[in-house]
Amino acid sequence: MQQITDLAAYYSLTPSQYGKTVFHCSECGREHRIPINIVQSGQNLISSLPEIIDLLLPNQTYNIGIIYDRHIEAKINALFFSPFDQLAISYTRFPLGEHGLLLEASTEIGDEAADGMPANIDFLIGVGSGVICDLTKWIATKCHLPFLLMGTAASMNAYTSITGTMTKDKVKSTHWLETAQGVLMDATLLASAPHTMTCAGIGDLLARQVANADWKLSNLIRGTYFCPVPFEMMSRFQDAYLPAIPKIRAGDLDAMQKLSDAILVSGYSMTILDGETSPSSGSEHILSHFFDFQHEVFGKPKNLHGEQVGIGTIIMSTAFEILSETDPATIDVDEIQRRRLSLSDIQAETDRIFRGYSKVFDQVVSKKRIPDEDFPSYISHIIQSWESLWKGLQPYLMPAEKIKDAMTVSGGFTKLSEIQRTPEDALQALLYGSWYRSRYTILDLFWELGLFPEFAPVILERSGVLG
Ligand SMILES: [Zn+2]
Ligand SMILES: [Zn+2]
Repeated sequence: MQQITDLAAYYSLTPSQYGKTVFHCSECGREHRIPINIVQSGQNLISSLPEIIDLLLPNQTYNIGIIYDRHIEAKINALFFSPFDQLAISYTRFPLGEHGLLLEASTEIGDEAADGMPANIDFLIGVGSGVICDLTKWIATKCHLPFLLMGTAASMNAYTSITGTMTKDKVKSTHWLETAQGVLMDATLLASAPHTMTCAGIGDLLARQVANADWKLSNLIRGTYFCPVPFEMMSRFQDAYLPAIPKIRAGDLDAMQKLSDAILVSGYSMTILDGETSPSSGSEHILSHFFDFQHEVFGKPKNLHGEQVGIGTIIMSTAFEILSETDPATIDVDEIQRRRLSLSDIQAETDRIFRGYSKVFDQVVSKKRIPDEDFPSYISHIIQSWESLWKGLQPYLMPAEKIKDAMTVSGGFTKLSEIQRTPEDALQALLYGSWYRSRYTILDLFWELGLFPEFAPVILERSGVLG
């Protein structure tokens, strides 16, 4: 591992150079580690696989297992297996899921594949995007196997992340998993993915402009840990891909590589925190996770993660703007205290709406709740430090209009109807999202300041996602 102590030197690294580094952070005092051996973004990377595998498994004969989604087998055959077969490396195929069915990153599918993994397999390659990435991490962790990820779409940022998001019993949760030995992002493969997937990746990356503000908010209000490095290390890569969006849309491979560089570094921002996802996942991801929950529980249509996150980012950056314009003098602590929902009010409400799932909500709510006796001084403190609070958040925010523009130029979704959610669905996500996920975000603050439920429709209206 390369030891780095200079902040400017750390920010100047390429995505490949970030592999195998430890940064002794002058900002937060922690050590930020990236244990991935080999990271490459470029073109025609499949041909360099023998070399890369030899580097990862030196002086060793090996049996490779290749994990991919059976549903897109024809595509994987053409794009990956056909050039890979010319390299004359022997391997075993492990297609997951069924033809005609969208694959889910569920612990059931992951466990089944791990249980059936032959003992002679000693290295795994996951070829795919988000779901295959999560499943490969899960299976490799369970089987104690080293693995490599070959991204087939720039649709999300978790390739280089130490975490995976898995669904168990209809509830998604983030798990600390083994890190890939290698991550390859081939622009040729990424550019042949459906364009909606690329737009989803842009949505997932833009989440940074809400997630870090939420993380800082939690630091300022709840005193939780924060470090600016994950946000700052992305700046250069965001500045490179944002203006290249029209070219990315036109299929330009160099522009696509700028996006894949940003995706790799965005994943690092979680890995350097030992799997804490706060720099990439705030209230905008809570909305997306809630849309997933609506799919599982109410049968609402499923979308790509990044498509939902993109819409969530537009909505939540608007929410930050609305709250920043609120005059703290108009907030009446006694009135808020009087209107505050009790734990039993909340339980009754989640029971009524979410029936069998209300337990999940109750656990989250009790974990985050400020006790009634401490609540008035807690709120008074927020009101008193209002100005410095917003000064602290400002560096991490981007105007909602700018985020919407980037999504529009990319050709991505900006309306609720495009992710097949009604305004009522989005209201439900805004109001109950903070009762469903334990991370403290601005959604909690809207409740604490007595602004929810009234402000939820105002946020939706102004964000422009309706209609
Ligand atoms: Zn730090
Ligand atoms: Zn995400």
